[in-house]
Formats: sequence, C-alpha cells, structure tokens
Amino acid sequence: MKRRACEEVGIESVHRDVDPAAGADALRATVRELNDDPAVDGILVQLPVPEGVDRSVAVRTVDPEKDVDGFHPENVGRLVAGDPRFRPCTPHGIQRLLAAADVDTEGADITVVGRSQIVGRPLANLLLARAEDGNATVTVCHSRTRDLAEKTRRADVLVVAAGRPEFVDREMVGEGAVVIDVGVNRVDADTERGYELVGDVDFEAVEGHAGVLTPVPGGVGPMTVAMLLYNATLAASRRSGVDVELS
Ligand code: NAP
Repeated sequence: MKRRACEEVGIESVHRDVDPAAGADALRATVRELNDDPAVDGILVQLPVPEGVDRSVAVRTVDPEKDVDGFHPENVGRLVAGDPRFRPCTPHGIQRLLAAADVDTEGADITVVGRSQIVGRPLANLLLARAEDGNATVTVCHSRTRDLAEKTRRADVLVVAAGRPEFVDREMVGEGAVVIDVGVNRVDADTERGYELVGDVDFEAVEGHAGVLTPVPGGVGPMTVAMLLYNATLAASRRSGVDVELS
C-alpha cells in the first residue's frame, strides 16, 4: 500500500528485505547503507521487526534526518519537547482528520486508549505539543486503566488504538462524541480470504450514537499513508534545500 502510494505521487521507493534469520546486525547494516546513500531521503523500518531483534536497535540506527516515521529517540525527544522534526504518521493523520472534520479541540477532553510508541504516546504528545494543535486535556488509557468506560464515556474525542476487535461498545461512548478508530484487526469471516478487517470499535453499535465515527477499513489507515508521503516530501525538501509548500 505504501509503495503503491509512493508510485502514484511520483516518489521513488526502494524495498530492502532483510533475512529474519540474519538477525540485528544484518538489519543495522542495511539501514546504515541507506543512511549513507545520498539518493535516499527517507527511511522506514517496517515494524514489527523479526522475532529476536530489538525494535529499538533498528529504530535507533536510522539517520534522524531521514526518519520519516519519527521513531528515532532524538525525534521522539523533539516531539515531547514540543518541536517535532517529523510528526509520526498515524498520530499526524488523526490530527488531520480532526481538522478536516472541523472538530474543535480547544479545551476538549480527549481520551486515547492505547499507550504504544507508534500511536498512543506520540498522539498524546502531539496533542499537547503546541497550543495551535488543540489545547485539549488528554487522558491516556491502557490495559491496566481502572474503570476504562468512565474515561471513554466522558471524552469529547475518543481515539481507540488497542488492537482489540470491536471492544468499544455503545456504553463506552458519550452521545455525540467524535470517535477515531485506529484499530485494524483480522477476524475470521466467511469471505473469500477467510477473514475480514474490523476496528477496535463496534461500528454498528456506535454509529448514530457517536457524532463522528471513522470506518475500518478506511479512516485512519489511508491518512497514515498520506502522512508518510508528507514526511518523505518534507525530508527531501530539507535535504535538497528546495522549498516545497506543504499544506
Ligand atoms: P500495541 O502496541 O499492541 O498497543 C496496544 C495498546 O492498547 C497498549 O498500550 C495496551 O495497553 C492497550 N490495550 C490493550 N488492550 C486494552 C484494553 N482491553 N483496554 C485498554 N487498553 C488496552 O498496538 P498499536 O501498535 O498501538 O496498535 C493498536 C491498533 O492500531 C492495532 O489494531 C493496529 O493494527 C492498529 N494500527 C493502525 C494503524 C493505521 O494506520 N490504521 C497504525 C498503527 C496501528 P498496555 O500498554 O497496558 O499493554
């Protein structure tokens, strides 16, 4: 999907497979080669990395200037400090969805379910980073949160990124709330492929009760890809010194 999207907008993408059996050294060597290649503007280590390889090793090896995922510790630090070099793609996509739907986040209660490094945490940091990003009050929940439903129900904006198929039901959503479903889960189904994709929110139960509800598939997924293209363009622009107007 990401490679096709690159092709569609005229970004050349190269794909490097690393033999999972070759371990962390091989992965590091491949990333370093791409770091050193002046023709490469952006690098993305497709997660999850193979079993036995530490994710952080791969992420730390990427040149921070080419880190279009925004996962390098230097870039995470800048995000937390309120000065992101690259906004991580899924959280940035969620921000764009909120803006496109004219959701007023000024003073709003936003509950994020999930505290992963790729969705929940960076989203919370992004929402808190700068006043112009929203001035919201952000609550981050996880698997040990007590009385989760109380925290999700009171949210003006509820973002769910837990990886639990359809676990958010109507009772967990406040009437008229904006609900962003990040989850993408495969469940067995009587389809040609033998499965279907569902979100973390029970769409049928919550539709009509929520004010806004993003679908799965669709919704956040395509926005993640779009923001990857955004970051790649930003990286190329900075590295080449050619100004590109990005809206
Ligand atoms: P992850 O690393 O597994 O993190 C899941 C988070 O949800 C953890 O913080 C976990 O809590 C929390 N959680 C799990 N069960 C919970 C429960 N019953 N109640 C409350 N919190 C719970 O997952 P992820 O990488 O963030 O991804 C989450 C979902 O988003 C997945 O379905 C993934 O496929 C999807 N995703 C979609 C996109 C997209 O572009 N659409 C991008 C990224 C991810 P603990 O920390 O306590 O374990």
